[in-house]
Amino acid sequence: MPFNETVREYLLLQSELEAAALRTLRSGWYVHGREHSAFEVELATTVGAAHAVGVASGTDALELALRAVGAGPGAEVVTAGNAGGYAATAALAAGADVVVADVDPGTMLLDPESAAAACTPRTVAVVVTHLYGRAADVTALRAALPDGVAVVEDCAQSIGARTADGSCGSLGDVGTFSFYPTKNLGALGDGGAVTCSSDEFAERLRALRQYGWSERYVIGIPGGRNSRLDELQAALLRVKLPHLAGWNARRREIVAEYARAAEGTELVLHPPAAGDVGHLAVGRHPRRDEFAARLAEAGVATAVHYPVPDHRQPALTVRVGPTGAEAVEQACAEVVSLPCFALLTDAEVEAVCAAVRRCA
Ligand SMILES: *Cc1c(COP(=O)(O)O)cnc(C)c1O
Repeated sequence: MPFNETVREYLLLQSELEAAALRTLRSGWYVHGREHSAFEVELATTVGAAHAVGVASGTDALELALRAVGAGPGAEVVTAGNAGGYAATAALAAGADVVVADVDPGTMLLDPESAAAACTPRTVAVVVTHLYGRAADVTALRAALPDGVAVVEDCAQSIGARTADGSCGSLGDVGTFSFYPTKNLGALGDGGAVTCSSDEFAERLRALRQYGWSERYVIGIPGGRNSRLDELQAALLRVKLPHLAGWNARRREIVAEYARAAEGTELVLHPPAAGDVGHLAVGRHPRRDEFAARLAEAGVATAVHYPVPDHRQPALTVRVGPTGAEAVEQACAEVVSLPCFALLTDAEVEAVCAAVRRCA
């Protein structure tokens, strides 16, 4: 049982993807063309934001989003410490300092009180990651934070997820997306995007992704980069986008099945909440490594998202906020991810469930 098999999406949509690729190759226009413009509009519509700005990856999306809201030398960015280190990497690349906040031990999402306690007069932004496809309560976070601190939503794992207040990526000041091949909307290579509702942020992001140009060959704002989403990837993403809602529903169904299988075992794995999109099927087990080894023997691949808290990464220089990061530490020690992708067959899902009942 593979942990993921992205080629299945390609095979399912092979003729459409190949037609889109060929159309792009023959167009002679390979960067920021018609496909890219159309994809930006379609993505903004999907997310319910006024603007979507294509960039080269999810990490670049975070870095440029943070720069757009003022992150740079002397500024601080707060982030949960269990979300893979992407936000910390991006904030450090922007020149800002990083403060690690704790998470809610139940949902493993950023704890608003811990984030608020980590804010200082130098804090410009809090990054909230909608981790594992779980939609975090951005309204509650915003209410807990001091005025003037921007909320950046990391939606790399949660495209299509929503809370009672709207879609992930439309709730904060900016939302960031990754189209890495295993994400719920995956390119055939790298890609990313930033969404926002402010015209001013959108203009800044469009400059930042292209050398800081305010107009062609005029570098009008500092901190610019070359970070563009390829025309080819945009064309391929447009083929997949209409399938996103159905694929998200299927992922939710898979997580719900695993939750049923885990009942009465030592694996704690919750069914998806309303609005979640089931990016990863993540449970917690008190003896995680032994459980994963038993599953491997049963032929089921697992992974750990993520094993190392940001503040224990050998090469990340971050500070832990005043509430500490105990729930982060515990999550990193216990989490285990089961195979979860939309094109798993019913038989494969049932085989994972049987292995969970036997091994957990
Ligand atoms: C995948 C991911 C990223 C990084 O995206 P890339 O496109 O690989 O740079 C950032 N944040 C989260 C939560 C992710 O899962």
